[in-house]
Amino acid sequence: MMSANQPDDWAMHDTGQAPDAGVEGALDAPVPMAGIRGALTKNAPLAKLVWFKSGGNADWLFEPADRADLKLFIDQLAGAMPVMALGLGSNLIIRDGGVPGVVIRLGKPFADVAVGADHVVMCGGGAHGILVSSTARDAGVAGLEFLRGIPGTVGGFVRMNGGAYGREVADILLDCDVVLPGGNLVTLPVKDLDYSYRHSRLPNGAIVVAARFKGTPGDPEKIGAEMDRIADERENSQPLRTRTGGSTFKNPEGTSAWKLVDEAGCRGLTMGGAQVSEKHTNFLINTGDATSSDIEGLGEEVRRRVAEKTGRTLEWEIKRVGRP
Ligand SMILES: Cc1cc2nc3c(=O)[nH]c(=O)nc-3n(C[C@H](O)[C@H](O)[C@H](O)COP(=O)(O)OP(=O)(O)OC[C@H]3O[C@@H](n4cnc5c(N)ncnc54)[C@H](O)[C@@H]3O)c2cc1C
Repeated sequence: MMSANQPDDWAMHDTGQAPDAGVEGALDAPVPMAGIRGALTKNAPLAKLVWFKSGGNADWLFEPADRADLKLFIDQLAGAMPVMALGLGSNLIIRDGGVPGVVIRLGKPFADVAVGADHVVMCGGGAHGILVSSTARDAGVAGLEFLRGIPGTVGGFVRMNGGAYGREVADILLDCDVVLPGGNLVTLPVKDLDYSYRHSRLPNGAIVVAARFKGTPGDPEKIGAEMDRIADERENSQPLRTRTGGSTFKNPEGTSAWKLVDEAGCRGLTMGGAQVSEKHTNFLINTGDATSSDIEGLGEEVRRRVAEKTGRTLEWEIKRVGRP
């Protein structure tokens, strides 16, 4: 098994060792903590864990030590409060009032990637796209290059049916291991996810702890060249080094969301500290001190203007979660 190269902000918060559950806030923990080894934090700030760098706290944040620990925690929670998984927060607006219940963050214990027989790439639910595609490249497995350009985790890709350059997770997923809200660990084949554009039928509160992707034989050099091409193209077309949330709206049938946003005159439009990116009009950015309410409000204003100008209704791709 290889270990992940984590970006700086991840490394700052995750030592790779799940702290003992002699935890902050454990006295009034929402579950009996006996036997639980992961880290449970009460009233945990989430802004620093998501790309937009905005939003409130999780009532509880749980970082499991491994899948058995996660299963035990969910089992002992017994549905007492809502559960939400968090990846890199690259497709999320965390509302300013914070997230009720427990946010589950899969860290290093879930970040491994390995290549098995028949060009199957086995990934932890917390593994980053860049590690998945580069591990596949090194083993001569083609078909996963597109994950190089999507800055999320395997769990996020599986839920969102992440895709780029004409490919999406639905094309490569064989199956995934999921901890269901009741605590059961099941393996779901791709057909059970009923994929459509940026959408799966994964139940709310279900947590993807691992996934297996199927590739094809390929030449590492050619795969690497394609990954470099993708990285360059992204760099030129997207505001990668800003506080953003990826594509804001789904592309409507027959057109691109960015074209409609542009046509409605929203390029550069601002609300508080939030702005429609000048570089790519389907991206919203936090220019420094935006609240999540600024960002979501700007998105709603864009939707209103697009509907008024073009008659088309934009549907949010970014997930908006928590209390306003
Ligand atoms: C610069 C930039 C470029 C992007 N380009 C693309 C692109 O080309 N194509 C594309 O599809 N997306 C793109 N995105 C959006 C985003 O990267 C993807 O949606 C990605 O799949 C989100 O992964 P994540 O792990 O960060 O999930 P998060 O943003 O943390 O969460 C997104 C959703 O997935 C759920 N989730 C997260 N982890 C798990 C898990 N382990 N189990 C179950 N559910 C989980 C969350 O609860 C939430 O509902 C881009 C984003 C940015 C910032």
